[in-house]
Amino acid sequence: MKPLVAIVGRPNVGKSTFFNRMIGQHLAIVEDLPGTTRDRIYGDAEWNGREFTLIDTGGLELGSEDNIMSRVRAQAQLAIEEADVIVFLVDAKSGITAADQEIADMLRRTKKPVILGVNKADNAQLRAEAVDFYQLGMDDLITLSSRQGTGTGDLLDAITAALPPPQETSAEELALPKFAIVGRPNVGKSSLLNAILGQDRAIVSDIPGTTRDAIDTRVQHRGTEIILVDTAGVRRRGKIDPGIEKYSVLRATRAIERCDVALLVIDATDGVTAQDTHIAGIIHENAKGVVVIINKWDLIRERRAAFAAAEEDPTLPTPKGELPKEADDYREQVRDELKFIPYAPIVFSSAKTRYHVESVLDKALEIAQIREQRVPTARLNEVVREAVLRHPPAPIKGRQLKIYYVTQPEVNPPTFVFFVNEAELVHFGYERYLENQLRHEFAFPGTAIRLVFRTRQSSERDAKGG
Ligand code: GDP
Ligand code: GDP
Repeated sequence: MKPLVAIVGRPNVGKSTFFNRMIGQHLAIVEDLPGTTRDRIYGDAEWNGREFTLIDTGGLELGSEDNIMSRVRAQAQLAIEEADVIVFLVDAKSGITAADQEIADMLRRTKKPVILGVNKADNAQLRAEAVDFYQLGMDDLITLSSRQGTGTGDLLDAITAALPPPQETSAEELALPKFAIVGRPNVGKSSLLNAILGQDRAIVSDIPGTTRDAIDTRVQHRGTEIILVDTAGVRRRGKIDPGIEKYSVLRATRAIERCDVALLVIDATDGVTAQDTHIAGIIHENAKGVVVIINKWDLIRERRAAFAAAEEDPTLPTPKGELPKEADDYREQVRDELKFIPYAPIVFSSAKTRYHVESVLDKALEIAQIREQRVPTARLNEVVREAVLRHPPAPIKGRQLKIYYVTQPEVNPPTFVFFVNEAELVHFGYERYLENQLRHEFAFPGTAIRLVFRTRQSSERDAKGG
């Protein structure tokens, strides 16, 4: 996991201006994070040869909508909980405000490195006056102008100097299948982790991550070693204010990025919620494997049993509410709600009774292996040729898509590159058709696969004899 650098500060000090400037110059944006108010708040950066992830906490929907202080406090709290380095921005033009003081009071209590950035220091006078901000009690002060782009390099230098030392991951560890347990707070992630770690399982080792508080756990499952990603994060979740669910999305996103197969835990008594769908979307977009776990299934069984008992024995009270669905119907409903990951297996489990805990790991391991599958090129081209013959692409504006050649250059995720006459002629529906054909023929259950379309010049085509 790359170290996380969080930008905090009251509204209007220039957090998003700073962040966007970093994107423009040094950042490759990873993706948009759901539950955010701005388009881009999260991305990877590299400076002085160090990589890190930068987040603009001002863009997170944290705290209460209309209370600015509550939002700012929640943002600072997120930074204290999750970040490795905190960049605290203030406004050189306005001087110290009560809100700045309050944030400073919070940040002084953390042991994590805090760098005070005095922004909008657009000229020599403002830069000179910035010393006033030493009153906030931070060790490090850097003046910058995000608008002009001056001083930002100094700030980046200070950030990279404060990052935790990089940790080498051994090639052997890199090769092991990595699973991440993800989901909303209270669905049973840490109970599931305990069920996995408990009883007869050899825990090989804890592997400290590159961030201050990420810990991976290396365990054995039926003789195969696997890595459970960010087990510290899974455990810590419950202790964080459960009202602020957005914390979990950030942490989950980072764990998902590093895993091969995500174990998406859903609470059977709640069903699929909007936030579950969000997390499933992140897994899909990152082209990871996935097992959908409907946890707390014991509670559903108990309720069904209570209804059945009441029917048998009229002296018993009928339980309130609705009779929960049976497994088959429940599964169908979850399928429908998570339509965009039709390939995902759905497992009913109980962390409490250990029901299906082993099956979850069996499935995940199977999917990790499926992601390593390589399809022979000749067979791949045969299948695509036949698929196109059966159902040729419709012309777009009179132009006909032609597929020359297909290869699978990568595994984990399985990635298929289609060389075509014009990549723009690939309609979304046709892409889905091709994906379904590949899945039908080669079977990639449990994992997203990637289809990439490349326009190839006719001269290249001739050279290849295609
Ligand atoms: P945020 O709410 O902290 O994310 O602040 P924004 O990035 O939205 O910036 C608030 C305002 O300050 C905008 O009008 C920016 O153009 C302006 N601003 C940001 N950085 C600078 C700067 O370095 N100098 C000046 N003069 N204005 C800036
Ligand atoms: P997390 O926030 O996702 O890590 O959830 P926890 O593991 O802390 O579980 C939240 C609550 O649900 C706790 O009170 C657990 O005891 C309970 N819980 C977790 N899994 C199960 C389960 O399979 N069955 C039942 N009945 N309760 C569960």
